[in-house]
Amino acid sequence: MKARPHSHSHQRQELSSLTGRLRRQARKITGPRAAILEILRQHPHPLTNKDIFAALSGSRCNLATIYRAMHLLEKMGMVKRFDFGDGAARFELVAEGDDGHHHHLVCTSCAEVVEIEECFPNEIETRIAAANGFQSVTHKLEFFGICPECQTTRHQ
Ligand SMILES: [Zn+2]
Ligand SMILES: [Zn+2]
Ligand SMILES: [Zn+2]
Repeated sequence: MKARPHSHSHQRQELSSLTGRLRRQARKITGPRAAILEILRQHPHPLTNKDIFAALSGSRCNLATIYRAMHLLEKMGMVKRFDFGDGAARFELVAEGDDGHHHHLVCTSCAEVVEIEECFPNEIETRIAAANGFQSVTHKLEFFGICPECQTTRHQ
């Protein structure tokens, strides 16, 4: 199986370009939304609403504001939702002109997250679509394991 690299790159985006995108989509950039985007920009891995809430400590944002903002930003295609199977939605900034499709490798011991740029070859989705009469088949997938650091501490 040959891996297909993602076009996705994890370049940090400038906040001004983010707020520019918000403005182009004719939405009011409220303080909380700009603050949330700035938090996400500073973190290369997906964050839960509670992570964002903790990072925004001292601001007037409450969890309900963050939930609503994330819902809106997801609808606008500015953030992508990921599921690590623990019941908490996680959000990551989507680069402009990118669909944000990628995967993660999560340590089940310490929760360390590695961004994975590889993906399945397109043929698999094409085959699954054809075999079942589906169109526009896509996938969501996260990997789990024990990170090098946890392997070391475990064997001491
Ligand atoms: Zn670990
Ligand atoms: Zn990611
Ligand atoms: Zn993929």
